[in-house]
Amino acid sequence: MTRPSPAEIVVDVAAIRHNVRRLREIVGPEVAMMTVVKADGYGHGLAAAAQAARDAGATWLGVATLEEARTVRATGDTGRLLCWLTVPGEDYRAVLEADVDVTAYSVAELDEIRAAAREVGVRARVQLKVDTGLSRGGSPAEDWPTLVAAARQAETDGDVVVTGVWSHLAASDDPLHPANDAQEKAFVAALAVAEEAGLRPEVRHLANSAAAILRPSARFDLVRCGIASYGLDPAPGETPADIGLVPAMTARARLALVKPVQAGDGVSYGHTWIADRATTVGLVPVGYADGVPRHGSNVAEVYAEGARRPIRGRVCMDQFVIDLGPSSAAGPGDEVVLFGTGACGEPTATDWAAAVGTINYEIVTRIGGRFARVTV
Ligand code: PLP
Repeated sequence: MTRPSPAEIVVDVAAIRHNVRRLREIVGPEVAMMTVVKADGYGHGLAAAAQAARDAGATWLGVATLEEARTVRATGDTGRLLCWLTVPGEDYRAVLEADVDVTAYSVAELDEIRAAAREVGVRARVQLKVDTGLSRGGSPAEDWPTLVAAARQAETDGDVVVTGVWSHLAASDDPLHPANDAQEKAFVAALAVAEEAGLRPEVRHLANSAAAILRPSARFDLVRCGIASYGLDPAPGETPADIGLVPAMTARARLALVKPVQAGDGVSYGHTWIADRATTVGLVPVGYADGVPRHGSNVAEVYAEGARRPIRGRVCMDQFVIDLGPSSAAGPGDEVVLFGTGACGEPTATDWAAAVGTINYEIVTRIGGRFARVTV
């Protein structure tokens, strides 16, 4: 007999497939879709997310690290795959042999990729990243002509083929932010420099989910969609329902204990909540070690017994307490939904993010620990 898990993350892969298809519909057939599956598929499981994205027509997958790229390949995936974050001295050989497109921000990085390509006897597929104003990864504009010239030379020497030129936006979740126009302009200028040097990249890309949805001019040849693929709001006020997306993750648990407390009783560490009336509390057997934000103490809500119920007192390492109300009929083993689609009234990951002062990305990528993961 299978016994219910104390806590589980339920991943609806059909929702991921639906979202990827919906995003493809939004950007249209001329724009290729990259589904970003880094950080364990934004907490949804890298293998499941990658498979769902491919099934729904994502021609590209995107990851941050070489290790993540190797993990994608270990699932048997052979489609186009880009990775974009390395440090000096990393070993590119396995990913180059596995046909992964890698990113270069600098001539030094390009040289490392060239050396690895020669060692394994392949022509490396390289995408050049230019910093258009995020001031994070990517070649500074002043170094761009040098990087482009070095990449062209590497092509001539037969070590690499430049498959892409790309950049990343700083404020795409704020469509009126002036950085969007400025970065798009800088990107077009960088593309012109690359073209002048003789590069003919297969894909030019700038947009993440928010820009893919809200800013047609930023779509170029390909969009890199992460958060929206998982059905979560890509920008403030852009709800999944408005866009036709479905949240793919539900986090739920079973009550470990239900018991009365009296008016005046302090609850959980530090007694940061004192019962103002006699009530019934329930013990939820997951805590901050499992990715339940401690900042949810006394502010976030869960869904139990057909309604939202507040967290009372501090979220602890392995557990937290909810207020089920004075007339609760709940018992140990009953289900509590921490967050989900919102369709039944439960909070969403975005509601949790708002309650604790973060973004939905952080909620779904950190949830884990002792939650079992179930894919449906
Ligand atoms: N592109 C890059 C370079 C990223 O780092 C990310 C995620 O952080 C994405 C695309 C996807 O962004 P989003 O999840 O907002 O779609």
